[in-house]
Amino acid sequence: MSSDNINTALVIGAGIMGAGIAQNFAQAGLTVKVVDINANALTNCSEVIAKNLRSFQDYELLDEAVDPIAARISFDDAADLIEHAENCDFIVEAMPEILELKQELFSQLDGVNANAILASNTSSMTVSTLAQGLQTPERLIGLHYFNPAHIIPAVEVHTGKDTSDLTIEKTMTLMHRVGKKPVRVRKEVPGFIINRLTGAMEREIDHLLDEGVVTPEDLDTAVKASYGFRLACLGPMEAEDMIGLDTAARASANLFPTLSNSAVPSPGIFEKVERGELGIKSGKGWYDYPDDAKASLVERNNTRLLQQLKIFNSREGTE
Ligand code: NAD
Repeated sequence: MSSDNINTALVIGAGIMGAGIAQNFAQAGLTVKVVDINANALTNCSEVIAKNLRSFQDYELLDEAVDPIAARISFDDAADLIEHAENCDFIVEAMPEILELKQELFSQLDGVNANAILASNTSSMTVSTLAQGLQTPERLIGLHYFNPAHIIPAVEVHTGKDTSDLTIEKTMTLMHRVGKKPVRVRKEVPGFIINRLTGAMEREIDHLLDEGVVTPEDLDTAVKASYGFRLACLGPMEAEDMIGLDTAARASANLFPTLSNSAVPSPGIFEKVERGELGIKSGKGWYDYPDDAKASLVERNNTRLLQQLKIFNSREGTE
C-alpha cells in the first residue's frame, strides 16, 4: 500500500507547530482538518496560515494559488475529534508536551478508524512510551518537525517497538510526497538525532559563556558565519570527509578531554528564567526585544529561511 491512499489529514492542536504542519499538508493537496480546545488558537492558526501562504506565494514556492490551498483547510472544536478521526487517513497530534495528555489522546483514538496512521510531533517522548496500553500500537509513529514547520524541510521519523513496517513505509512516502526530507531514527533514543546534537552544542555554549571565552553576540556571529554557514550545504559527515578523517580524529583526540561533560545545564540559564528573561516572548533573553520590534523580527527570520528554502529546493533538484 502506498501513501497515495492518504488524502485527508487531521491535525490536533492549532499552535505553533500545528499551523505549519496543516499548511504543508494542504500545499501538497491533502484536505486538512485542524482541531483545538481553544477557539482563539483556531482563529490565530487560520490567520497565520493565510499569511504564511502569501509569503510562500511571494517567494514562488507554491504550485497553485493561495485560495484553493487555504480552502482545503478547515477548523473545528476538538470536541468533535472522534468524528473527524473517523474520516481522516492520517492523524498527527501537535498538543503540548505533556505525556498524560498525549497518552489520553491516543487511547481515545485507539479503537477509531483502524486504517488511519497516528503520528505524534513530540519533541522528547519515545513512541513506545506513548503507545503504552494501546490495542493498535502498530499504527503509532513519531514525526518530529522543526519550527517553523511550514519551512524547515527535515522531519525525523522515529518508531516504537511495535510500529509496523507498513506504517513506516506509508509515513515516509507521505513525507516525500508533501516535499519534506524525512530522516529515519533507527533506535529509540531521547531527543532523536537533532535535539541530541543541539543539546551537545548548548552544553558547550553554556561552558564557553560561563568561562567568559565569548559574548553571546560574538558566539552568534561566529556560528552563523562559519559552522552554520557551511552546515546548510555540507553535512557533518561530508565535512569530515573533506577535512580528512585522520586530521578529524587527531583534532578530536586533543579537543574532547577539554570539552564540557556537565550533566546539568549552566546555572546562568536558570537564573535568567527566574528573572523572567525567557527570550522574545518576554521581551528579554540574551538580547532585548521591544514590543514594537517583535513582529518584524519574526518576519525577518522567516524571510531569511524562505530565501534559504528556495536555494535548498533548487539544489535538491540537481543532486
Ligand atoms: P503550542 O502550545 O503552540 O500549541 C499546542 C496547542 O494544543 C494549543 O493551541 C492548545 O490549545 C492545544 N491543545 C491543548 N490541549 C488540547 C487538546 N486536548 N485537544 C486539542 N488541542 C489541544 O505548542 P507547540 O509549540 O505547537 O508544540 C506542540 C508539540 O510539538 C509539542 O509536543 C512540542 O514539544 C512539539 N514541538 C514543538 C516545537 C517548537 O519549536 N515549538 C518543535 C518541535 C516539536
